[in-house]
Amino acid sequence: MKLIILISDGMGDRPIPELKDKTPLEAAKTPNMDLLAKRSECGLMDPLGPGIRAGSDTAHLAILGYDPYKVYTGRGPFEAGGIGMDVREGDISFRCNFATVDEKRIILDRRAGRIKERTDELSTTLNGMKLEDVVCYFKESTAHRAALVLRGKNLGNKVTDVDPHKIGVVPPRALGLDKESKKTAEVLNEFVERSYQLLNNHPVNKERRSKGKPPANIILPRGGGLAPSIEKFSDKYNLKSACIVEVGLIKGIGRYLGMDIIDVPQATGGLDTDTLAIGKALIKALGNYDFILCNVKGPDLAGHDGNYQAKVESIEKIDLMVGYILKNLPSQVCLSLTADHSTPVSVKDHSGDPVPILFFGPQVRVDEVDKFGERAVTKGGLGRIRGLDVMNILTNLGNLSEKFGA
Ligand code: ZN
Ligand code: ZN
Repeated sequence: MKLIILISDGMGDRPIPELKDKTPLEAAKTPNMDLLAKRSECGLMDPLGPGIRAGSDTAHLAILGYDPYKVYTGRGPFEAGGIGMDVREGDISFRCNFATVDEKRIILDRRAGRIKERTDELSTTLNGMKLEDVVCYFKESTAHRAALVLRGKNLGNKVTDVDPHKIGVVPPRALGLDKESKKTAEVLNEFVERSYQLLNNHPVNKERRSKGKPPANIILPRGGGLAPSIEKFSDKYNLKSACIVEVGLIKGIGRYLGMDIIDVPQATGGLDTDTLAIGKALIKALGNYDFILCNVKGPDLAGHDGNYQAKVESIEKIDLMVGYILKNLPSQVCLSLTADHSTPVSVKDHSGDPVPILFFGPQVRVDEVDKFGERAVTKGGLGRIRGLDVMNILTNLGNLSEKFGA
C-alpha cells in the first residue's frame, strides 16, 4: 500500500461577500475534488490546534507526524536546507535579505530593489567567512532572499533579529539572550558589518549604482534557528519517501526529514504553475516510492495578496491535478487531500480556522459528504482532527501502522 498527502497550501478561507458568502473553495468549480470527497471520509483538520495560527513549516511538520512544539526551532534551518545548503545538527541558521543602506547604515530598502541578478556573485564573496572559530556559510535564494548558516562550537540560538522589518533606521545589533547565544550574536554582528564592507563597493553593486538601482550592500539576518535533531521520516514510518513541493521552505523540511526531492521544472511556485505537470510527476514517482508529499503553493499566495479571484482560479487549477491523479491512481493507494492552514483573503495572512480534509483508499468508510468545502465536510465521518493525527490515520488505512499494546 502506498500513501500520498496532497496539500493545497493555504486553501482554507472564510465567507467572502463578493462570492455570495462562499469561501474560494466553495465557489470554485472543483468537480474532481468533489468526486474524491464523495468516495472518501471527510472532516475538518486543525493543523496545530483549534484557533492556532500555523506557519507552513510548523503545519507540515505536524501533518507529517512531528510535534512542532517539540522539534521546531525556527524556519532558518529549513529555509537553508531548501536551497540545498548542508545544515547539520547544532548549526544556527538564519533567513536573510540583501538590503540597501546608506553610508550611515540607515536602511533605505529592505529588499535591495528586489534584486534578481548576480546575487550568487555577492554570496560567493561572503561564503566561507571565518569569525573566531565559527564558519559562516552563505547562499542566495530567490530574488533578495538568502540564508546564513553558522557552524561552530557552543552556539546558542536565542538571538534577536538584525532585520528590523522597517526602513529609515539603522539595523539593530543582535542580542544574545543567554551565554551561548551571546557568542552567536557577536559573530552575527561581525558578519553583518563585514557584509557591508565587502559588498558596498563590490563590482555587482558598482554596476547597479551605474544603472540607478539600489545596491545590495548589507545582509540583514533574522529568524535564527538551531538545527534540530529529528528522526528521519523513512525510519519513523519505514516508508521510502519523496516530496514534490514548490517552495524552498517545504523542500527544506522534506530534505531535513531525509525525503528525496523530486523537482518538476514546470512547477513555478507561483499562480502560473503547471499543476498537471505536478500530477504527472506524482503518478510517475509512485513507481519508486511508498510515500509522496505534494504541495502546491498558489492558493496561499492569492490569500496573502487578498485576491479572491486568483484564489478561486488557483484552486480550480489544483482540481485539474486532482482529476489527473484520480484517473491514473493505482488501486493500492491511500490518499489524503487537505490544506496546511487557512489563508483568508480578508486577513491576507494565515488564520487559525480549520481546513477541510479527506481520506481516500480502498477500505475507507465513505461518508455522506459529496462536496469538498470548509462547511460541506463538517457532515463527514472524521469529525475534527489535528495535524498530528493525519499520518496515524493514513498509515492505519494502509494497514501500515504498529499496534500499541498487546
Ligand atoms: Zn502554507
Ligand atoms: Zn502563507
